[in-house]
Amino acid sequence: MNLALINIKQLVAVSTDGNRIKAKEDMRELGIIENAAVLIENGVITWVGRMEELSMGSLKDTEVLDCLDNVVMPGFVDSHTHLLFAGSREDEFALRSQGVTYREIAARGGGILNTVKHVRQATKKELKKNARQWLSAMLQQGTTTVEIKSGYGLDTQSEIKMLEAINELNKEEVMAVVPTFLGAHAVPPEFKDQKADYVETITNTMIPYVSSKKLALFCDVFCEQGYFDVEDSRVILTQAKQFGLHVKLHAEEFSSSGGAELAASLGAVSADHLEHITEKGIQALLKAGVVATLLPGVSFFLNHQYAPARKLIDAGVTVAIATDFNPGSCMSYSMPLMMTIACTHMGMTPEEVITASTLNAAAALNLSHELGSITVGKKADMIVLDIPNYTYLPYHFGENHVVKVVKDGVVLEC
Ligand SMILES: [Zn+2]
Repeated sequence: MNLALINIKQLVAVSTDGNRIKAKEDMRELGIIENAAVLIENGVITWVGRMEELSMGSLKDTEVLDCLDNVVMPGFVDSHTHLLFAGSREDEFALRSQGVTYREIAARGGGILNTVKHVRQATKKELKKNARQWLSAMLQQGTTTVEIKSGYGLDTQSEIKMLEAINELNKEEVMAVVPTFLGAHAVPPEFKDQKADYVETITNTMIPYVSSKKLALFCDVFCEQGYFDVEDSRVILTQAKQFGLHVKLHAEEFSSSGGAELAASLGAVSADHLEHITEKGIQALLKAGVVATLLPGVSFFLNHQYAPARKLIDAGVTVAIATDFNPGSCMSYSMPLMMTIACTHMGMTPEEVITASTLNAAAALNLSHELGSITVGKKADMIVLDIPNYTYLPYHFGENHVVKVVKDGVVLEC
């Protein structure tokens, strides 16, 4: 099956040289081609160039998508979500609007454990039904690959239920789904005051099972005061690596704990959040080549401190952004909204937020060799946007500008 995208007013390739990550000023080089076209064969990009270089006669047996002088860019990669959940937490949102903090709500049994109650009661079928509505809305808004974490089950059976659902969604839905095991998201109520026993359950029971059934590519830990400290995180992630999982870490969200240094020492693929990362942490991520995944929607939604995006980029760390879509700390899966917040609150430029949502986000999932830019040889995951230029995307926020989605070389009816 061949496809040609023609009459593209502005093609945002993001990368033209096949590099797998971008850092520093490279993040601002988007490989723009004005008046462009793209050719695709069997879901893979085979040619990228200017319209006048394309011989229309060569398009026999090719489906043609006339982009009508719109902008085309890679589909967004949302590399950090918790989108498989049940129930919702608007009551906590209302409390926060009255000044109750996220930590106080968690201490009252709300927060993550509130969602855990609902997820334990839900069947796999119910969880998938819930997730499908988010996945299709995300696709319509330009996200073509999404990472989903477990972590609302917190017992072996419920964590497996979540991971099976995530893997089934990957097979059944158009969206590409990357599964992450997050058994260490919180200490479940039945292990209250016995955290060490829960850590042992994760390392000795859950990780071996998840690995043997190939239910996850990544293992993640919520490394934070009151959840799992640096030592717990090291034990869990070291075991995960021994069982063949790649590692990620929720680090430095509410406080500086040394999570970034831990991520670096373990060779993590990404360290996520980083609102309270220190200078030492930044240097550690840089040296170890860990992707820093920033989550602008969380700081916005909780009215918390933002991660120091400028410092990270200027130091040379590979920076990605993601939604962290979840019912407690970011009830939004809009990548363009995250881009706007990153520009207005974190000092990133429109070029940097585009790179951070595509190529660098793919790198946060070990997928930048095949995703994240419109480069020959990569998967044809692209979006057509009804905007005059790419800067307009983060500028005109709260609106869906996506008019067409191409996933694996197929034009979707959204
Ligand atoms: Zn998260």
